[in-house]
Amino acid sequence: MSSSPPADSAAKPSHFLRQAIERDLAAGVYAQRRFGGSPGDAAHHAAGASDPARIRTRFPPEPNGYLHVGHAKSICLNFGLAAEFGGVCHLRFDDTNPEKEEQEFVDAIVEMVHWLGWSWDAHGISHLYYASDYFDFMYRAAEHLIGAGLAYVDQQSAEQMRANRGDFATPGTDSPYRERPRDENLRLFREMRDGRHADGAMVLRAKIDMRSPNINLRDPTLYRIKRATHHNTGDRWCIYPMYTYAHPIEDALENITHSICTLEFEDQRPFYDWLLEALAAGGLLQRPLPRQIEFGRLNLTYVITSKRKLKALVDEGHVRGWDDPRMPTLAGLRRRGYTPASIRKMAEDTGASKTNIWVDYSVLEIALREDLEPQAPRAMAVLEPLKLELTNWAELFGSATHREPCAAPAHPQRPELGQRRFTLGPEVWIERDDFAEAPPKGFHRLFPPRTLPDGSVVAGNKVRLKYGMVVECTGCEKDAQGAVTRVLARVVPDTKSGTPGADAVKVKGTITWVGAHAAHEGGAIAAEVRLFDRLFIAPQPDGGEGDFRRNLNPHSLSVARAWLEPSLHEAAADQRFQFERHGYFVTDRIDHACAAPVFNRIAGLKDSWAK
Ligand code: ATP
Ligand code: MG
Repeated sequence: MSSSPPADSAAKPSHFLRQAIERDLAAGVYAQRRFGGSPGDAAHHAAGASDPARIRTRFPPEPNGYLHVGHAKSICLNFGLAAEFGGVCHLRFDDTNPEKEEQEFVDAIVEMVHWLGWSWDAHGISHLYYASDYFDFMYRAAEHLIGAGLAYVDQQSAEQMRANRGDFATPGTDSPYRERPRDENLRLFREMRDGRHADGAMVLRAKIDMRSPNINLRDPTLYRIKRATHHNTGDRWCIYPMYTYAHPIEDALENITHSICTLEFEDQRPFYDWLLEALAAGGLLQRPLPRQIEFGRLNLTYVITSKRKLKALVDEGHVRGWDDPRMPTLAGLRRRGYTPASIRKMAEDTGASKTNIWVDYSVLEIALREDLEPQAPRAMAVLEPLKLELTNWAELFGSATHREPCAAPAHPQRPELGQRRFTLGPEVWIERDDFAEAPPKGFHRLFPPRTLPDGSVVAGNKVRLKYGMVVECTGCEKDAQGAVTRVLARVVPDTKSGTPGADAVKVKGTITWVGAHAAHEGGAIAAEVRLFDRLFIAPQPDGGEGDFRRNLNPHSLSVARAWLEPSLHEAAADQRFQFERHGYFVTDRIDHACAAPVFNRIAGLKDSWAK
């Protein structure tokens, strides 16, 4: 019906936002409320039927940049609470500032909120709104305030206004224009609208209290003159409302019940209430009025969530764009391979608090693993390949071209997903660090036979090639620099996984591998695998002294020329897998092609972020 997706089953931890909504619903605060079918004033809603939404919330981005993981928190809170309480969440573009907003960002925001799984369609209505569509009402409301003696046109210079505002310790001083007669205020305000005055020549201010301990109540500015073309209204207006004036009105026109915002707006709440009260008292807005509730911002360790700084990373070329898989933008997280469910889970698990919080990045990775572990198909991949030659292959199987079929479950707990098939041949790719010429203590993977100082000989180690056979290491080959180029081993007969007696030979190590022969014979396919590390080396990259750029990790991207199991040959773009032993990977949604596969590592199997 409304803000989908189906609430992720488990019982949700309670928090103060949930409790506030429960209290309001129990008290029947919204029981008599009507909805005119679209945003509107008191008369519009009064003419409508009773509001089918039990509550209304909104996500109100300014379309001046791409969404990041902090926005995801706000999106999931607002859409999630609406879904949970039989309400509706509106997607509203807060586009009252003509200068910074662009259609490109509007489109990108719509796409990402949908991608996260939310919808603003409810009761046959698409609740996608633009604040700029309310300019007419905002103007009418301003004239009403003037008429009610609650607003005046001020012609002080910006410097005078600043000086007369006072500060925390000093009360403000009344403007010499504060007692202008109402009809003169109205005339001047209309002249402002009609373009009769220069930008910055005058502003419309609320008339509240220049001595209020809350500086936001010291006659805040409501309208300014600004000749700028607006992406929606073009050149129709040369005066624009201030954000603090516009936002409460947007909420009220849309019948929002709970206007959930971040803590920095707490000091604005008295003005929010003052303004809506004044307009409801004048009969312009329907009661009950929306109420603003603040919660703490979400910050993730090792991540920056400021649009301005993210833009700097893109513009200065530190990353390859807004959707670079290292970026904490939703476009970046999607390309990296994070699932919508994992992001929703992270938002849910971090609750809501009354202070700004720092959440460990691992919370997001844990949510991802929880989502993917039960569903991601498994595959073997060798990321740092070293060739292993099985020297008795031809002798054992009668020919060097023999290919031994092997099978593995697509998912160990889900037999219904079937089997992956691949083959073993005389040459296989193994991970370079699965071989050690001089093994450290406790090393159970491949090492060659060696003679100890006392003359005794330690045999080469035996390991199982996973889903294949046991092999015994016999030696290695090296290049002129002493780097190992090839490992040699013999197949131990009658040890193939799944055959009778396969376990007669006990081994301590099992390694992953792929056949070095062609994919059409069940061998490996070549792929580019992009391995990402954190973009910043400091847990709070933009905290403390100095510039956040100094905390950039120079090694945040490395590219592996990898060999993959042939079952991955048909992988479509944006498909996720678990590479055994390595973690979770996704085909890159832009660069991947079957003929030239590109995978991104989403996250390792274990927490690599904890110290
Ligand atoms: P930025 O500071 O990155 O420019 P913003 O708050 O100015 O972000 P808006 O487009 O105004 O960006 O944000 C839309 C909504 O998302 C707002 O209600 C804002 O409070 C919320 N939001 C932004 N960042 C966070 C965050 N880190 N945690 C929770 N909510 C956030
Ligand atoms: Mg903002």
